[in-house]
Amino acid sequence: MQKRADRLRKAGQTIALVPTMGFLHEGHLSLFRIGRAKGDCLVISIFVNPTQFSPSEDLATYPQDFARDLELSQKESVDIVFAPGAEGLYPENYQTYVQLEKLPEHLCGISRPPLFRGVATVVTKLFNIVKPHVSVFGEKDFQQLAIIRQMVQDLNMDIEIIGGPIVREPDGLAMSSRNNYLNAVQRDAAMCLNRSLCEAQVLVDDGIVASAEIIEAVSRSIRSIPETRIDYVSICDPGTLDDVERVDGPCLMALAVHVGTTRLIDNTILRPD
Ligand code: AMP
Repeated sequence: MQKRADRLRKAGQTIALVPTMGFLHEGHLSLFRIGRAKGDCLVISIFVNPTQFSPSEDLATYPQDFARDLELSQKESVDIVFAPGAEGLYPENYQTYVQLEKLPEHLCGISRPPLFRGVATVVTKLFNIVKPHVSVFGEKDFQQLAIIRQMVQDLNMDIEIIGGPIVREPDGLAMSSRNNYLNAVQRDAAMCLNRSLCEAQVLVDDGIVASAEIIEAVSRSIRSIPETRIDYVSICDPGTLDDVERVDGPCLMALAVHVGTTRLIDNTILRPD
């Protein structure tokens, strides 16, 4: 991959990279289209990164369908599918990790401690291997996107980072490979994530700006749905991810909710008029 990247760069080609963990859906494909428009050569990576999972999480059962992923990639005119093995990226005696200081201390970083150290590390490795000019990440994982942007700035990585909007199912559920785990009852219940984000914006439109009040209303609404267990409901500054007390400018509202045994996330920007 590095040799191919060198050849492409030498020929003056722009490389766009979209990192994924596979089991592709429309959310991924929307990022491919952004990458396609930005680069002469579109590379996607498929790698279920072991270092970002904690031992109790779903590394072993994470959904995979490589043949289908290849087919979808072909349809989207992906030029290169880079799918390394875990032993390729983390050989014996591997010992280097990339760790940010502040942004991981919020939201998903609290309940999933290894997550962002694993993400920052694997994305750095992918950048060094694929040598992209541009890389595209989804706003679905808002904190991840913020962390990658910060890392690229802090470490002087010469790569343009682009965010792609959240792609949703017709009923509003944010697309995710993990939606595959949900049974019919849980699939219905899962709609409460997006619904509660919409409810929060309605409260803001009605002039309620106290974050605590909005969070309480949203939490009550989610708790009323069977099979749900809230990990967090947060209203925070979209730049620092620090909690804000009032929604008096654009604020990030982010949620993580367990539905059955599946942990789902969603977010929106709350905007006062
Ligand atoms: P994953 O395969 O879940 O690690 O996701 C790979 C990339 O796709 C990440 O940048 C995600 O933020 C992005 N992504 C996942 N789901 C969606 C979605 N529903 N809409 C937009 N981007 C998404």
